Amino acid sequence: MKRIFVILVILLIFGSFALSKTYIIGTSADFPPFEYVDNGKYVGFDMDLIRSIANLEGFQVEIRDMSFDSLIPALKSGIIDIAIAGMTITPERLKVVDFSTPYWSADQDVIVKKNSNYNLTVLFGNHKVGVQTGTTGDLWVSDNLIKTNILKSIVRYESFIYALQALLNGEIDAVVLDSPVAERFAQTQPVSIVGIIITNENYGIAVNKGNSELLSKINDGLSKMRSSGQLTSLVDKYFGK
Ligand code: GLN
Repeated sequence: MKRIFVILVILLIFGSFALSKTYIIGTSADFPPFEYVDNGKYVGFDMDLIRSIANLEGFQVEIRDMSFDSLIPALKSGIIDIAIAGMTITPERLKVVDFSTPYWSADQDVIVKKNSNYNLTVLFGNHKVGVQTGTTGDLWVSDNLIKTNILKSIVRYESFIYALQALLNGEIDAVVLDSPVAERFAQTQPVSIVGIIITNENYGIAVNKGNSELLSKINDGLSKMRSSGQLTSLVDKYFGK
């Protein structure tokens, strides 16, 4: 009798595991503290956030790392189901994907190599400014500095890891990137913030346009996390002093 019970329990556990759906999560794991690789694992605020939402809503996740500018095409072609990567909700992106309710806000910061004596004028003239391809930092520099001829050259990198390396090697003079990530780099790398560009961005979790079933699961999970205090704990974990 006892043995049958144990077998039934095992079947039930495996059965429910097999029945619960697995969603493929796309991220760009070069964006600490939101997503980065630590000991071969994808960790960070966004990674914990989507895993907690999955727990609350009863689905499994499988994380796929890719370049930031591949995320929306991957959503469109069905290679991934969800994109979470500190992604700003923009009018352009809203034409092709749907976003969850906002979960974070950010501006753009200008970082330079520590002790380089640069200030905000690093954004002018013949300096070289690095960005990650397809980000709102790329968009801001392109629209406001390159198109207006205020700055001569923008250097686009597939990953912030390469942009940071180029900055530290002296190949470029500055990098424009999201403020929370710039602040984290300023704590962990020999770089300083020399300017803040107020862009008032909000991060959202993206799904393919029209995937309202998945979007409502994500929004429901987010709102449960807000009201239970789980979201505050997550903020403390990654941003607490
Ligand atoms: N928030 C910025 C954007 O959406 C940068 C995101 C990132 O590089 N992961 O474009």
